[in-house]
Amino acid sequence: MEPRAMVIRGGEVVSSEGAGRADVLIRGERIEAVGAVGHVADAEVVDAGGQLVIPGGVDVHTHFDMDAGAVRSADDFATGTIAAACGGTTTVVDFATAYRGETAAEGLAAWHAKAAGKAVVDYGFHMTLTDLRRPAGDVVAEMGEAGVTSFKLYMTYRDRLMVSDDTIAEIMRAAEPSGALVCLHCEDDNTLEDRRRRALAAGRTAPRWHAWSRPPGAEASAVARAVRMAEDAGAPLYVVHLSSGPALEEVRRARERGVAVFAETCPQYLYLSAERYEEAPAAAARYVCAPPLRDPHHAEELWEGLRAGHLQVVATDHCPFTAGDRARGLGGSGWDDFTGIPGGLPGVETRLALIYQKVAEGLLTRQQWVGLCCTTPAKLFGLHPAKGELAPGADADVVVFDPALELPLNAARLHMNVDYSPYEGVVVRGWPSLVLSRGRAVARAGQPVSGPAEGRFLRRQAGAAHDL
Ligand code: MN
Repeated sequence: MEPRAMVIRGGEVVSSEGAGRADVLIRGERIEAVGAVGHVADAEVVDAGGQLVIPGGVDVHTHFDMDAGAVRSADDFATGTIAAACGGTTTVVDFATAYRGETAAEGLAAWHAKAAGKAVVDYGFHMTLTDLRRPAGDVVAEMGEAGVTSFKLYMTYRDRLMVSDDTIAEIMRAAEPSGALVCLHCEDDNTLEDRRRRALAAGRTAPRWHAWSRPPGAEASAVARAVRMAEDAGAPLYVVHLSSGPALEEVRRARERGVAVFAETCPQYLYLSAERYEEAPAAAARYVCAPPLRDPHHAEELWEGLRAGHLQVVATDHCPFTAGDRARGLGGSGWDDFTGIPGGLPGVETRLALIYQKVAEGLLTRQQWVGLCCTTPAKLFGLHPAKGELAPGADADVVVFDPALELPLNAARLHMNVDYSPYEGVVVRGWPSLVLSRGRAVARAGQPVSGPAEGRFLRRQAGAAHDL
């Protein structure tokens, strides 16, 4: 029997390169045609008149079901992917982690166990390495066979995550021939360690000192070091969660001299600022993340970086903690100073709409929005053209986005498993009216469609960093 067909009719189809009125014909899990589609017998017809039709969002930076000392990120692969679907994201790439003393294969197996049978949209994994127990080439090859073609390394958190520059360079050299992409958390650990010690010695324990201890200069100097290592290795580099003007400047200059450096930023660095840390400590603790929120002028520079193309991806670093877990702290019995506060913000549900606001304001084009949130991350991480593109043969991951649909970004209206919203009281205009994951409706008008969790693990190919 032919799989059931759907025609999304009369919408404005937007890709990263163009836009125009077109119909989208879906049969089963795939897109069959984009263009003028005639009558199709027995097809379900969706009227998309006045709406945008875009590829499902691709969020390449989530932390679902992640241990953080005595607490755990509040969304698992069930609630996290339901929230993603409600906001128009149909692919997530989460960070599987091999903690010190674990092999990459063990870390990967642990993340497969967290996700299996729970996700309602498709998912992949990056592999975070915290030490090298075998030759880097062997690890890269083993992960490639397992469908993991990107690696995350930390330049800070010396107690449990950081790797040395030697190790970073070795992994970059090993990754390059296979097309695997190395992703770096760029903050200079010596600066952070020194500032943390000085703050605590002076009794400065409140959340605002978290931000003081991680200055923009520490991010910029780490990005500069990372760029030099990538250049030396002849390997592309992906900077995660870039948060500040000086770090952006390092990326811009590297790209101008032809280095294959890519960088993502996140909605929290575009919409929130360090003013949040001036609230009472219990409230301010909700905004602890790393890098920290910055002074407002950094956000202006990041928006300009997105507009001008110096930043290529918007992802979320979705890693929420409830107010209760913030108060419990990493040790479980309450935090005494900012180093004991679990860090990370919710965001997987609100990314597409938040970035769209700047399309409505005229700062970004619709094509840029699709490129930043869907197509470029899919290309960089080996998911394109199955993901991030509306084209014949692609997975039918489709968002019908209603530019007139309004939603207050209040915790009570959202589906992330967390009891506050960083955007409480903010009303966005523009939200997905229909979200399809491989042809199945997974959300309508911001509400989940109940059904089995049919999200699949995506075995990724090498990405296209050298071609972008
Ligand atoms: Mn992260």
